[in-house]
Amino acid sequence: MLTSLRRWLDVRRWPVWLLRPRMLCLLLVVELAAAGLVVTGLVVSPPGPMPILGAAGLAVLGIAHTELATGIERVRRRVARSSYFDLSSVWTFAAALLLPTSLACLVVLAVYGHLWARVWRPTGAPLFRHLYTAATVVLAVQVAGTLLSTESFGSGPVDPLVSYPLLVLAMVLYVLVNQMLVALAMTLTAERSLAWRDLVGDWDDHVLEGATLCLAVLVSVAVLRQPVLVLLVLPPLLVLHRAVLIRQLEERANTDAKTGLLTSSAWRGRATRSLLRARRSRTAVAVLILDLDHFKTVNDTYGHLAGDEVLSAVASTLLGEVRDGDLVGRFGGEEFVVLLCGLPAAEAGRVQSHAAAERIRRTVRTLAVAVGDPEDPVVISDLSVSVGAALSEIDGHTIDELMQVADYALYAAKRGGRNQVRLGRREGTADRNVDEG
Ligand code: GH3
Ligand code: MG
Ligand code: MG
Repeated sequence: MLTSLRRWLDVRRWPVWLLRPRMLCLLLVVELAAAGLVVTGLVVSPPGPMPILGAAGLAVLGIAHTELATGIERVRRRVARSSYFDLSSVWTFAAALLLPTSLACLVVLAVYGHLWARVWRPTGAPLFRHLYTAATVVLAVQVAGTLLSTESFGSGPVDPLVSYPLLVLAMVLYVLVNQMLVALAMTLTAERSLAWRDLVGDWDDHVLEGATLCLAVLVSVAVLRQPVLVLLVLPPLLVLHRAVLIRQLEERANTDAKTGLLTSSAWRGRATRSLLRARRSRTAVAVLILDLDHFKTVNDTYGHLAGDEVLSAVASTLLGEVRDGDLVGRFGGEEFVVLLCGLPAAEAGRVQSHAAAERIRRTVRTLAVAVGDPEDPVVISDLSVSVGAALSEIDGHTIDELMQVADYALYAAKRGGRNQVRLGRREGTADRNVDEG
């Protein structure tokens, strides 16, 4: 206890100093802006006793919610290995609707302070990250609260034509401010350039956030009419926590643990849907099957653990070389499948899919994977991959037909000497005997 306190007091060893200077600047700006707005608001218009009582009530409910959800979250972490799912917008957005804005921000600080003590600190999460999250929520509450204060949502009579659109706008802005600040932090800390999808976040998460904000509106209505009925929000909230658990279990079942790619069956399901979409939009898709050349030699020379690291590196390469919306899966062993979407039909599609497959082949050829002790790593290079490809409508009309043609093409590539791309029926044959060249 004393040692950890001493370590905590040693400012020079705070993990925040490991951040890049521009992220450190963003952190300071966001936190100072949040703190400045709250303090100014409280000084300029000190809240009366009733709003303070309301803020205390919402903070207590937020804390009770965290305590109740912690049990479910513990189960979820055990099976899904991911961190706490925070649905506390129910209380923070309700506070923005009901209370003077700076007082609503104090509810945010109480709920997030408790979350830190009970959930994040025990997992060893860095405090600066949690403070940044809390500051983004404070700013989101400021924006939503300021917008709503132009209309008497919490007190006087409500004009539906003005209040309801304003309410929807406040919900959208609340999500946007949060998401934009999170995306900004991700951009400043990312090692590689991020895909658009990483920045806008997961659609399912936004739906969940939307459901949470709807509950926040119901909490506000209950507070104004029948405060005791607010307790009825807790059971649906706990069901939402369970819904996250189910979604993450599904995600895990669809993800190959070793490479993080789609499993073969998940890939096949999504590829089938993409093919149907392509048919409707009169575009083409290409199926690539890739098999690492002489991978057994990698295992035999460096060991299976090193082999696994090579598989991970190849998986990252594949993800980096395809576009958003393309599908990458692990077919099994050292074989991968890729679905290239949005290609032009016929010859132009053939040319583009061949170019993409060639690009992947060349990048795998240049891979140098450092394995073992990071201080003294062994570098595995001289890797190569053989690729078989098939284009929709020309080589087949279903995913199974396309995979069969791509598989034949792959074996033709192996037979042709490996480290090459073969495309379609013309280049593949039904003869699958590959000599061990
Ligand atoms: P070819 O060029 O003909 O494809 O030769 P190859 O050695 O790659 O082919 P083969 O099918 O003979 O061997 C595949 C190897 O992939 C054998 C197996 O040990 C290895 N392998 C399959 N799954 C995994 C895995 O998850 N991890 C590791 N490290 N190796 C794997
Ligand atoms: Mg193989
Ligand atoms: Mg192989």
